[in-house]
Amino acid sequence: MSDHQWHPETLSVRAGSEHTPYGENSEAIFLTSSFVFSNAAQAAARFGGQEPGNIYSRFTNPTVTMFQNKLAALEGAESCVATSSGMSAILACVMGVCSAGDHVVASRSIFGTSVQLFSNILKRWGLETTFVSLTDPDEWRAASKANTKLFFVETPSNPLTEICDIALLADIAHEAGALLAVDNCFCSPALQKPLDLGADIVVHSATKYIDGQGRCLGGAVLGRKDVLEPVYGFLRTAGPTMSAFNAWVFLKGLETLHVRMDAHARNALELATWLEQQPGVSRVYYPGLASHPQHALAKKQQKSGGAIVSFEVKGGQEAAWRLIDATKMISITANLGDAKSTITHPATTTHSRVSPEARAAAGIGDGLVRIAVGLEHIDDIKADLALLSKSL
Ligand SMILES: *Cc1c(COP(=O)(O)O)cnc(C)c1O
Repeated sequence: MSDHQWHPETLSVRAGSEHTPYGENSEAIFLTSSFVFSNAAQAAARFGGQEPGNIYSRFTNPTVTMFQNKLAALEGAESCVATSSGMSAILACVMGVCSAGDHVVASRSIFGTSVQLFSNILKRWGLETTFVSLTDPDEWRAASKANTKLFFVETPSNPLTEICDIALLADIAHEAGALLAVDNCFCSPALQKPLDLGADIVVHSATKYIDGQGRCLGGAVLGRKDVLEPVYGFLRTAGPTMSAFNAWVFLKGLETLHVRMDAHARNALELATWLEQQPGVSRVYYPGLASHPQHALAKKQQKSGGAIVSFEVKGGQEAAWRLIDATKMISITANLGDAKSTITHPATTTHSRVSPEARAAAGIGDGLVRIAVGLEHIDDIKADLALLSKSL
């Protein structure tokens, strides 16, 4: 059995659990800021790097290490560093890869706060970002310059679930001398493995499907050792590292990742199929539907369509708000990745800071509603949206 390759489901449950000094079957939370040495020589050897081991929890912590090793096994990554949030994962990725004077090409449809990070904050520090269409490879080629160091992408996109060809984009990035980073938050490694497709870096908001029950904020950056080394250097110096408690929550969350993602996707496909038949709905966006423009690519690149379903209701914002306000069970929140289904109106929440013209150009209409489909019984989710069975 020694060369037996564990399946992803087994890695979710078993990988990374090596720090069990008392034989505990459930991993421990090592809540300690520092670690004690046997003597002065050992302290010197630890600080000098001649002896492996923990020094201080901003550098390493056994619970965080277990989480990193489990997620690395699931993404097929050589290295993983955990961060305090998804945003600090993205910041650490950029800080590790880029310097002032460098250039980034990013998809226009990335997470709203990521847009703010690139276009407002990082710009002040001399990093220039060009935003292009997620689905048009020619725009990525045209935007690349001699100082382009990073391509940054999120697929499927939020909220319209557009998909880019990761393998193709990796080739374009490498031709340009840049690295490709993929925010794999919507799919998680259970549904999509960007590193296997040629991407250099994966970033995560662990806050979403890795936790799975909406408890903690966290993030991670994964990739080759040489790529991750400066990312880790930034983290241990600047400090947005993951707490041991949060790492423990995410470790437990990952154990059920595959069963949860399969159940989320089953519910989402059934909901999307039902939505397409409702008189109150004019269009449904879900990669698992044959009507999705990139359904074939989704089938090639993802294990399923995922958990996010967006749809346009007839009657614009007024009808969308009426639908949202009529729900009795589904949580009205912009968060996603929870066992609880959530519903949001992108135009007035997640994308309210985008100008109406830019929203219209991106295809985010006033009647668009996004549901992150949870793990409730599908009939109860449909019942909560019963208003759609008539024209709103
Ligand atoms: C939520 C989210 C983030 C940011 O993660 P936080 O944990 O909230 O900092 C980044 N990317 C995507 C796709 C997200 O959904």
